[in-house]
This record gives sequence, structure tokens and C-alpha cells, in this order.
Amino acid sequence: MKYVIALDEGTTSTRAVLYNIKSGKIEKVKNIPVKQHYPQPSFVEESAPEIYSSTLAALIEIIETVGADNVVGIGVTNQRETVVAWERSSGKPLYNAIIWQCRRTVDYCASIEKEYGELIKSKTGLKVDAYFSASKMRWLIDNVPQVKSALLKKDLCFGTIESYLIFKLTGGKSFVTDYTNASRTMLFNINTLEWDDELLKVFDIPKHTLPTVKSPDSVFGEFEYGGKKIAIAGAAGDQQAAAVGQGCFESGSAKITYGTGMFMLANIGSKIKHSRSLVTTLGYGLNGPVYMFEGSVFNSGSAVQWLRDGLEFFKRSKDSEKLATSVASSNGVYVVSAFTGLGAPYWKGDATGLITGITRGTTKAHITRAVLEGMAYSAREIVDIMQEEGEISLDSLRVDGGASQNNFLMQFQADICNIKVDRPIERESTALGAAYLCMIALGIKSASEIAIARKSERIFSPQMDNAEREQLYNGYKNAVKRCIL
Ligand code: ADP
Repeated sequence: MKYVIALDEGTTSTRAVLYNIKSGKIEKVKNIPVKQHYPQPSFVEESAPEIYSSTLAALIEIIETVGADNVVGIGVTNQRETVVAWERSSGKPLYNAIIWQCRRTVDYCASIEKEYGELIKSKTGLKVDAYFSASKMRWLIDNVPQVKSALLKKDLCFGTIESYLIFKLTGGKSFVTDYTNASRTMLFNINTLEWDDELLKVFDIPKHTLPTVKSPDSVFGEFEYGGKKIAIAGAAGDQQAAAVGQGCFESGSAKITYGTGMFMLANIGSKIKHSRSLVTTLGYGLNGPVYMFEGSVFNSGSAVQWLRDGLEFFKRSKDSEKLATSVASSNGVYVVSAFTGLGAPYWKGDATGLITGITRGTTKAHITRAVLEGMAYSAREIVDIMQEEGEISLDSLRVDGGASQNNFLMQFQADICNIKVDRPIERESTALGAAYLCMIALGIKSASEIAIARKSERIFSPQMDNAEREQLYNGYKNAVKRCIL
């Protein structure tokens, strides 16, 4: 038996996933939680040594279950945008990892938005935001004396998580990243696929602090274990890896991940396009880089969590389906779950949520149904923009993530978008994508073989008539309008 291992370093845990090349199945998963630290309001950090040690522990445990001889490669996927600063000579981190959620550089970003917003958008596809890596790097130079001093000694490395992990796993031999991760830094030119000198000047970040950028299907280095060398091959940011896992290789294919938040990525082909309200990012296609529109909604499954834990409507998230389908409709109730502001396409950080249309007859079931419907409406808003501004026509939505198990939600999603919803058998799309990239890098399988490997578990076809669809959706649009007044 031959295996590849996908390392999936996420925001709250690190996982090592054992993938059997012959059967195409995931056989074992080791999950180790990683602690988040909040040293000040709006600061979010994690210990870089803890990220590495938990990744290493998970990796070794999985290698030992099958023996190093049977592991042909290790692929890496990771929480994106998060930044680690470390010393090149020793590999020692100089500060905690600054997590993508951290808002410490909001004011700095606001101060450069006016002058550089357009330039940054045209070169990187991104809007100026504290979410992306560049302002976090700037903060580290300005506020951490050890980072400044390593910079002056030309001994500073900045990297996103996969870059830091690969550096450590190769004993400092490989200082590399892949272009999907690089495209989330605000420093990488997605037209030329290079670090952009002009942007490096704007943020005052010297190029020698940044890793060499390679294609996601590259061999990045070797990990030595028990006298054996295992190739580290294949790397991509988590959302792009999920798109690979879902086989979104061609223009017009899209995936939606319903977790705590909702992330949608659509392949818009090999010609760059810009959207007014979505970001453009790099993904991996059949012939190398492709452009993708990305839309993120901060609260999706978290609204179901709120019903479960906050309002105590039910005990398990999956019980939401039974409750929602116990009534024939939400009876005019709409829930906009903007608990932490509204993401795409509004970008209103200060918005709060609301419930509209309640009457004396409104029950828990109506509200629960309206929460699930709200998740689908917020996806429709993004789907519409992707099709219009991306000039693509989506023939299906490939779904994954915890809430994709909810059949009511999936059917309603298909109905409200008037697009088929396609749920695969294997829903570990992120880890699967890293395993696929690893096999492509090592020449075990081609991208076109992988593109056809995906198997649907269930396809939800639209059943709602147009008039009803548009009437329901307009109701939601009206509710959102009141949210952003
Ligand atoms: P994350 O990786 O963001 O933690 P997951 O992909 O594990 O998220 O999905 C968990 C989220 O999905 C939770 O917010 C949970 O409330 C929601 N969820 C899980 N199962 C269901 C279900 N059957 N119906 C609706 N929501 C669900």
C-alpha cells in the first residue's frame, strides 16, 4: 500500500490525513487543537512553535501507522494570510503567528487605502484590508525589536504558515511558498506571478525577507524521518486546496464551503477579471494558474451554532433540519446573521444582524428555517455577482463543510440559485486537494485524471418556480437593506 499524507494546518487545529493512493480514500485523520491567544482586543495570535510541534506530532503519528517506507509524499495546506516571522539562521520564530482574523492593522490599512487602494486591487486582486498579510508584516517590523534587528542583519524570514512549516520540516533547507498563498499577501502581483517591487516599497518590506514562490504542484523539499527521506510536494492555501479537492479546474466551476463562515470560490479562467465587491485570487487549474473570484460570508454555520448554544433551540446542529422542515415555510420571517459585520458583497464591518417578519404565530421552527434559508440567500448574493462580473455561467455548486450535510439547506440553495447543488462522497475537500497536489507534483496522477476522480453523493436539482424564487429572495434583500442602513 502506498500513501500520501496531507497536512492541513487550520485556524483552530492541525490535522494529518492519510490518503490511500490506490483506493482514493482517506483512511485516517489525526487532529490536534491549536490554542488561540487574544493579548489585546482585536489581536489574534497563535504560538508558532506550537503550530509546528502539533503539525510534527500529527505527521509522525500518521507516518508510524503505515511506516515511512509506504509514504511517498507529504502535501501541505493551511490557514491563509497568517504571518510568521523567524530567524533564517536558527529557524527560531521572533513573535507569535499573527492570525488572519487579527484586526490590529485596521488603522494602518485605512491610512493607505485612499492613495494605494486602486493600485493594490489592480496588481493583487485584493482590497486593502488588515485580513491580508502585508500590513501584519509591517506591524512586526515596526513593533517587535527582534524582527527589526533580524531584518537589519538580513536574517529575517516572513512567511505564511505553509512556508514556515516547510522551512522547519526541511531543517531550514527550503524557504518557499506557493502562488495561491502568495496571492493573499497584498505583495504578490497576480498578473506577472511575482513579488511586486512597487508594492514592496509601499509596505517597505525588503524582498529578501520573502520566500521563493513556486507553483502549487512543485516539489518543495524533503522531510527526513527514521533515516527515510519523504518528499514534501504540493502546497496551497486552504480554500484553493478545497477547490482542487472538488475538481474545480475549469472556468465556470465553483465550490462553496459551509463551515462557521461560508467561503465560495469560482474559477473564472486564465484571464484576469476584477469584481467590484469580491476579491480575485489565484487558483490551480488544469494548465497551471487560473483566476478565481472569492466571496466570504463571515457567519454561516455560526448562526446554527447560535440557535443551538445561545437560544438553546436544539442540542445538535443537525437537529436544525428536522425543526426547519416541521413547518411548510418560514412564514415571512428573515434572519440576517451579521453577528460580526457583513462580509462580501457589502464589507460593512459594523453591521449587526436582525430578524424581520415575526408575528404572534412565529415559532422556533420558523426562525430555524429562516436561519438556514438566510445561509442560502447570502450565498446567492455571491453567486449572482460571480456569474455577472466573472462572465461565467455556473452549472452546479460543489459543496462541502459541516452544514453541507443539511439536506434542507442544500435543496433550498439549489432552489434559490436555480443551480444544481452537487455534494461529493468525500467531503474532506481541503485535505484531499493537498493530497491531489502532492500526487500531481510527484507525477503519480495528472490533473486531468484527478478532475474526473470526484464522485457525487447527491445532486439537488432546483424545483422552485421563478416567481416564488424571486419573491423570497427580494424579501431577503429588503431585510439586508435594513441591516446596513
Ligand atoms: P469549521 O471548519 O468552520 O469549524 P465545519 O465545517 O466543521 O466548520 O462546520 C461546522 C459548522 O457547521 C458549525 O457552525 C455547525 O453549526 C454547522 N453545522 C454542522 N452540521 C450542520 C447541519 N447538519 N445543519 C446545519 N448546520 C450544521
